Amino acid sequence: MPKATAARRREKYSLALCRRIQALHPPAAAAALWWLGQSGFVIKLAGRIIYLDVFFSAMRSRRTPPLVLPRHVTHADVICGTHDHIDHIDHAAWPKLAAASPEALFVVPLLLRRRLIRELGLSGTRLLGVDEHQSIQIGPVTISAIPAAHEFLDRDRKTGLHPWLGYVIQGDGLTIYHAGDTCLYEGLENTIRRFKPDVMLLPISGRDARRLKSGCLGNMTFQEAADLAGHLRPSLVAPMHYDMFTFNGADPRRFTAYLKVKYPRQQSLIFHHGRPVIVQKSKSHFLRVVANKRRQAGA
Ligand SMILES: [Zn+2]
Ligand SMILES: [Zn+2]
Repeated sequence: MPKATAARRREKYSLALCRRIQALHPPAAAAALWWLGQSGFVIKLAGRIIYLDVFFSAMRSRRTPPLVLPRHVTHADVICGTHDHIDHIDHAAWPKLAAASPEALFVVPLLLRRRLIRELGLSGTRLLGVDEHQSIQIGPVTISAIPAAHEFLDRDRKTGLHPWLGYVIQGDGLTIYHAGDTCLYEGLENTIRRFKPDVMLLPISGRDARRLKSGCLGNMTFQEAADLAGHLRPSLVAPMHYDMFTFNGADPRRFTAYLKVKYPRQQSLIFHHGRPVIVQKSKSHFLRVVANKRRQAGA
């Protein structure tokens, strides 16, 4: 396809998707989630629109093209990044997002806050930092940090702050855990358990010597992600971080298949790029998935 045509198609798709995000209003006690590839999600919860770990920039090695152009994101209330890798905090895109959504606040690991204010040219009043045992309240939405072990559970030597985080997003009676990039570590399961997440979004790209040697830090394997979900029993678990790069992929069907055999009562779902999933909590605390039912596994 000629370059200009591809660019026009991308532009059209981006505008249409942004309009759909704007127009969809989940009912009470419900959230809408759109997966934009890798660990990138748009979450509409308690009337707020949250962009989380969205990777906007075009890159030759991307297998999933950017679905949304930053200049079309005029409706963001919150933009979160779990750690400073391009597929999670996209330096080229964030200033454009700040301009397109002038009211939006940005949330990053507290350790990175000062440097990111400097490097991205964002104002300190808009770029907020969070660390372990801390939460940020933005209107009706609470964002709490859970440390992540991107291979290692690193801490800054001077401050003890964490460079890698996962976030718990709460609002309208719903709790969503987005793990960021992490392996399992002692204490992670209990920390997550305290929040009683309804939805868990977990990386499944795994890790090995070849990738680590080339500087590609690892994540939990699909089996580890399945065990974590099986132990914590959220209403819904979905895999992420497997589709973007050939060198860092995994088959999400192996995750759902394994989960179905080992934890048959655990509900899971494979997201489709750009297609919304609506989750609604009923009085009996059962989470109903009211969209994207195709490819749903488990009970
Ligand atoms: Zn990373
Ligand atoms: Zn990553």
